[in-house]
Amino acid sequence: MSRPNVSFEFFPPKSLDQSFRLWNCATTLAPMDPTFVSVTYGAGGTTRQLTHEAVGAIHKNIGLTVAAHLTCVEATRAETLEIANAYAEVGVTEIVALRGDAPKGAEKFRPTADGFQSSIELIEALADTGKFKIRVGAYPEKHPESGDAAADIEWLKRKIDAGATSAITQFFFEAETFFRFRDACEKAGIDAPIIPGILPIENWNGARKFAQLCGTSIPQIVTDAFDNAAKTGSTDLLATALATELCDDLIRGGVNDLHFYTLNKPDLTRDVCHALGVTPQVKLENVA
Ligand code: FAD
Repeated sequence: MSRPNVSFEFFPPKSLDQSFRLWNCATTLAPMDPTFVSVTYGAGGTTRQLTHEAVGAIHKNIGLTVAAHLTCVEATRAETLEIANAYAEVGVTEIVALRGDAPKGAEKFRPTADGFQSSIELIEALADTGKFKIRVGAYPEKHPESGDAAADIEWLKRKIDAGATSAITQFFFEAETFFRFRDACEKAGIDAPIIPGILPIENWNGARKFAQLCGTSIPQIVTDAFDNAAKTGSTDLLATALATELCDDLIRGGVNDLHFYTLNKPDLTRDVCHALGVTPQVKLENVA
């Protein structure tokens, strides 16, 4: 089996302690030679400056290719493009372009006056600048706001046609879920790479709540396994085994790229990578 390409998602720190954690996470995983890492943009656009600083620091000080997440929430078009241009100026040329969710307290996404009305408008505007490689979100079990799976895939096709070059999926538990989605996308004429998003589960209760929010179905066998593992203090072992098996199934089904949701905790992701044969790449400049 060939070594898969990996990438990692981080979130921007909101305190000094979290800054150290992000730094530890990024430097622990950097030797795996990721294709790129990405930094999220707080729900409701709340981490504009923090995301910018984290992206800049990882790009400049660790030398990784960083994709900055950017949403349409709570900003005018001019403000959003200003953020994007500031990235281009410091050499950051990848963006994960998202519509984003509503700010806390609001029920649904509402576009800002003079803001981008949808992810497609944002993608088009970023593509027009000619400065960025644009990645987008995709939903193997359909987005909760989408009428049906076919409409969701049609929307994804519009995002690719608007200028996105790849999509990263929401997390899921079974390789079959991804393969069904990949096949349906292919049938709909989507030829851009679709990268599966993998969540190594550090916190089962948190993951369960998050899955419910984003419509990710949890097989009963996984719930039972975590309940049992909790009794013996072996949830990390279980999480590593489950994520490794999922990645292994995906690779056997032809997947070459895996995107890990690290939640700024590197251990499980590192262990899964090692189990898949993704081990630290020693570069000559680091030892000379
Ligand atoms: P879109 O794909 O534009 O819309 C989601 C779905 O809604 C579509 O699939 C489509 O079915 C339907 N839809 C939306 N608009 C229309 C329309 N006008 N007509 C018809 N159908 C429509 N959120 C953050 O706040 N910050 C982040 O950093 C962040 N990172 C993410 C990274 C990844 C890889 C993923 C998968 C999600 C991320 N999210 C993030 C969550 C994301 O913002 C939410 O899922 C949001 O609700 C949808 O954003 P999107 O760009 O995927 O939306």
